[in-house]
Amino acid sequence: MPRPIHATIHPAAVRANLERARRAAPDARVWAVVKADAYGHGIERVFDALRAADGFALLDLDEARRLRALGWRGPILLLEGAFEARDLELCSRLQLAHVVHCDAQIDWLSAHKTQAPHRVFLKMNSGMNRLGFTPQRFRAAWARLSALPQVDEIALMTHFSDADGARGIAHQLAAFQEATRDLDGERCICNSAALLRHGLQAEVRLDWVRAGIALYGSAPDHPERTAADWQLQPAMTLASRLIAVQQLAAGDSVGYGSRFVAPAAMRIGVVACGYADGYPRHAPDGTPVLVDGVRTQLVGRVSMDMLAVDLTPVPQADIGSRVTLWGRDAGGALLSIDEVAQAAGTIGYELMCALAPRVPVAVDA
Ligand SMILES: *Cc1c(COP(=O)(O)O)cnc(C)c1O
Repeated sequence: MPRPIHATIHPAAVRANLERARRAAPDARVWAVVKADAYGHGIERVFDALRAADGFALLDLDEARRLRALGWRGPILLLEGAFEARDLELCSRLQLAHVVHCDAQIDWLSAHKTQAPHRVFLKMNSGMNRLGFTPQRFRAAWARLSALPQVDEIALMTHFSDADGARGIAHQLAAFQEATRDLDGERCICNSAALLRHGLQAEVRLDWVRAGIALYGSAPDHPERTAADWQLQPAMTLASRLIAVQQLAAGDSVGYGSRFVAPAAMRIGVVACGYADGYPRHAPDGTPVLVDGVRTQLVGRVSMDMLAVDLTPVPQADIGSRVTLWGRDAGGALLSIDEVAQAAGTIGYELMCALAPRVPVAVDA
């Protein structure tokens, strides 16, 4: 028998989450963001569920090739644009729309020989200070692009740094609106958090939104709101089984570094899942885990291939009992990836992206 750990992807959840994202901006078109191999879910595994999207956004050219190989003929957007001049050949050949965020990318375009003119998304750095032209330099970049025969359509784009938090998006949105007021072109603004939390339709022109994490059923603003609050369904389950049980006496310790010491006699279960599977090594004692669908907690340091859980709430549990690290238990109980991430001091995004290649992945029918 193979080691009992496995992940399951739930396409029906992805499909429902896309519909949920659409409802948040019914007049906008939706880029399904599938970078990082669809946030660890696997582009090929979620492709059918996302066919109803208006386009796919990603940053790896190879992932763009994979989408075309799946038969997707609609829009694809490279979120970081070309990395070097010759990437533009692939953009021409595969008809990839691409972000332009710096002058070097405009230089490459102006030297590029193309049959079909390119669709570009001109990115403004409205305060994130990662990619893009500042509002002061945006117009000049737009003018340069407009003059190029290699370019036939320029959309205007920016990205929010605090859509999920207290600072919000107003300051960046104002900078974007001000600097683009009299420029032609579609507007592409909003990640999942901005889409869900700041329904923008009434105030601003919103032609495209870029939905990522919401598609995968994680709340962009956890713990303020949960995935359930946003009516998002988990798209990934990580599950395993108990492979051993230990009876501890008061004072016995568990695992490396003896981090957990039993306060009283107790049973613990050893789970075939460790950090080499993508489970966060920094998860502390108390991190939630489901055993036979019953909520219990991690005890002791996570090791490479195993972790231990308190069996006090599940006295019937034994070798072979089901363990859900996150997602949906076979009996229907849910454990949010966001809760596990929060306990471990990270975010759902990181856990899904970190699912290790050694974990076999199945797809729900
Ligand atoms: C990843 C990404 C998104 C999607 O963000 P989520 O928080 O996952 O919705 C949107 N826009 C850009 C530019 C991105 O890089």
